[in-house]
Amino acid sequence: MPTVLACLQERAPGERRVALTPETARKFAALGASVWIEPGAGKAAAFADADYAGVERRPREAILEAADLLLCVQSPEAAELARMKPGATLVGLLAPYRADEREAVLDARRLTAFAMERLPRTTRAQSMDVLSSQAGMAGYKAVLLAAQLSPRFFPMLSTAAGTIRPSKVLVLGAGVAGLQAIATARRLGAQVEGFDVRPETREQIESLGGRFLDLGVSAAGRGGYARELSAEERALQQQRLAEHLRGVDAVICTAAVPGRPAPRIIDAAMVAGMRPGSVVVDLAAETGGNCELTRPGETIEHAGVVLAGPLNLASSGALHASEMYARNLLNFVGLFLKDGTLAFDWNDDLLTGSCWRRPQG
Ligand code: NAD
Repeated sequence: MPTVLACLQERAPGERRVALTPETARKFAALGASVWIEPGAGKAAAFADADYAGVERRPREAILEAADLLLCVQSPEAAELARMKPGATLVGLLAPYRADEREAVLDARRLTAFAMERLPRTTRAQSMDVLSSQAGMAGYKAVLLAAQLSPRFFPMLSTAAGTIRPSKVLVLGAGVAGLQAIATARRLGAQVEGFDVRPETREQIESLGGRFLDLGVSAAGRGGYARELSAEERALQQQRLAEHLRGVDAVICTAAVPGRPAPRIIDAAMVAGMRPGSVVVDLAAETGGNCELTRPGETIEHAGVVLAGPLNLASSGALHASEMYARNLLNFVGLFLKDGTLAFDWNDDLLTGSCWRRPQG
């Protein structure tokens, strides 16, 4: 029997992405898998059932019972994991840090679970890096949201009714999402500045046509990531940033430190000091927000400043986000799906790094 590789319709509220696209379904079949999909799984991402040529459409229950390898965007709930085929494998953004009953269920069913957010971010893993591919979409959408919420044009305009000066956009955090935000805001014609505590981002920001905002703080950490700032570094950053924010029209917040709540960078007093009509889009809302006033999932107004805390922005670009996500999974699964069967090399750091649960003994 060839490996049954399957994909369910996502059930998390607001989730529009799908883990299997018609393109990757074809490629998985070429790797020898028997590919199944729940009817309607791709619909919210604009993939019709009929687009999945050669893929078997099976009801959700049948998939849970028979799939050897289940691909997902977000993790199914524990009650569904408890109905999965014993010994099966699950791959997706499983949020392993969420302490809940899923661990016990996975272990009891002897399931192997790969949490893609734990994939080591090495050069070999780049084509499998879902955090990067999804952050790109989120950064892009964050700028479009800011432009939509702003009462100003982003580009400079010379019109018969006078000249409009370009908006000033500040991007906090110049990782994958931040750099995409900088590029997008530039394409919309804004004057863009980027700030990050990793000094190497200066060159990356400048290469995209942005200006590096130098607040005199540097905090390069291990593995290319940032470390947490000391109290003195933070105070200096805050004071200089507060002054600077008075002249900014839109702020896109993307600063993050892996495994920790998002750094608090903008406090209420800084927001109060901003010009009315300014906009803050806080992409870090999911991990608490870079802005003290951010309410995850809401858009509010404070002292004339609009503050948006969007959740799961990547899902709002579901078609391309799914295409990239599904290719990331195809490349990852290619590490252990060979000639239609699953074989894990537990000496491979990409497998051990991303593995959340696997049967013991
Ligand atoms: P992230 O989402 O964890 O963080 C976003 C950004 O916030 C980072 O650039 C970080 O330096 C910045 N930040 C943290 N605290 C801050 C603060 N107090 N003030 C301002 N900025 C702050 O990171 P990410 O976007 O997922 O990745 C960051 C970097 O990791 C990438 O730009 C890249 O250099 C590296 N990376 C490498 C690979 C690879 O294949 N080697 C893959 C992905 C990422």
